[in-house]
Amino acid sequence: MKFETRAIHVGEKPNFKDGGTGDVAMPIHLTSTYAREKVDIPTAGYEYSRTANPTRDALQQRLAALEDAQYGLVFASGLAAETSLVLSLLKAGEHIVAFDDLYGGSRRLFTRVFNERFKVEVSYVDARQPQLVADSIRDNTRLVWLETPTNPLLKLCDIEAIANIAHQHKLTVVVDNTFMSPYFQQPLALGADIVMHSTTKFLNGHSDSLGGALLLNDESLYEKIKFTQNAAGGILSPFDSYLILRGTKTLAVRMRQHQKNAIRIAKFLESHPRVNRVIYPGLESHPQHELAQKQMSGFGGMLSFELDGNIKDAKRFVEGLKYFALAESLGGVESLIELPAVMTHASVPPEERRKIGLADGLIRISAGIENGDDLLEDLEGAFQKIG
Ligand SMILES: *Cc1c(COP(=O)(O)O)cnc(C)c1O
Repeated sequence: MKFETRAIHVGEKPNFKDGGTGDVAMPIHLTSTYAREKVDIPTAGYEYSRTANPTRDALQQRLAALEDAQYGLVFASGLAAETSLVLSLLKAGEHIVAFDDLYGGSRRLFTRVFNERFKVEVSYVDARQPQLVADSIRDNTRLVWLETPTNPLLKLCDIEAIANIAHQHKLTVVVDNTFMSPYFQQPLALGADIVMHSTTKFLNGHSDSLGGALLLNDESLYEKIKFTQNAAGGILSPFDSYLILRGTKTLAVRMRQHQKNAIRIAKFLESHPRVNRVIYPGLESHPQHELAQKQMSGFGGMLSFELDGNIKDAKRFVEGLKYFALAESLGGVESLIELPAVMTHASVPPEERRKIGLADGLIRISAGIENGDDLLEDLEGAFQKIG
């Protein structure tokens, strides 16, 4: 089954048997518990909805199919997925090697919670150079945590090269695939062990739900994380499961339009006299354009740029748009714009932001699926407002 077909059919087969009514759309199973006729026999295997729920199961199957994975688990948010993963696979005193340009919230979780409270050690390295990952591996390392392309600087790392290094040391490789979605990038096929998503973004795609997912092939890792999912309880609700199930049906067509608009915006900005630098993996000017072409089947809907101006100009620019909402988050049908240094990445210490190259005036765009002409007109209007 091809991607677009899996995105519609896996997990949502109409049921004609056992009183099934042939629903084409998966019902929202709003039940906390399941009655049984006999003490020893849970009905259809269901006991209690923290442990399992049919709507959540359908989404888990759907997302696993989209990443070509055996197993899927969904959580109340992307960070809840990350929390369950780390709780499942690490003990106090063990070590994570992570890309130094992670989503700000992932970094806050690792540093402020797992490191400060539970003594998990974390080395942040520039994973654009696989050798730096290799050099950071210690006897107590368990996990390599990658995000590619990163947020908001769109740096890439070579998943295959790093997975090869990590596997020589029997480490588990996690890739946060939120930015590309499974439509443009399939980390498991490149050697990653676990794919993580904030389904809040492209997978749901309509900015009306939060969720997170882990997709993987290794049964013993799956059983460990599934145990934690039930034990710690950070599960996705049936209603959010339904919303994301619905969102994934249009993932392929949305991603194509996100990308089309992102390319147009990137080229428009690159030729604009008030712009110093545009960062988009699809531009030939991107330092890792070649790796992007090799590793991904597209370049996605996210881009960043630096105005020729100061932070005040950048603030006036993002406040002067009519279609781009000035908001955190990304991956919805509507275009969003934001200033990472003061919004999404405010929790990253200023000296660390300088080290990774995140300028105060950097502007991040999540290209929506509106008509591109309107988006370019809106951007030009904002340039004129700042003079
Ligand atoms: C949003 C995001 C997360 C966190 O997900 P939540 O659903 O907000 O908890 C993690 N990684 C990336 C790349 C994200 O964009």
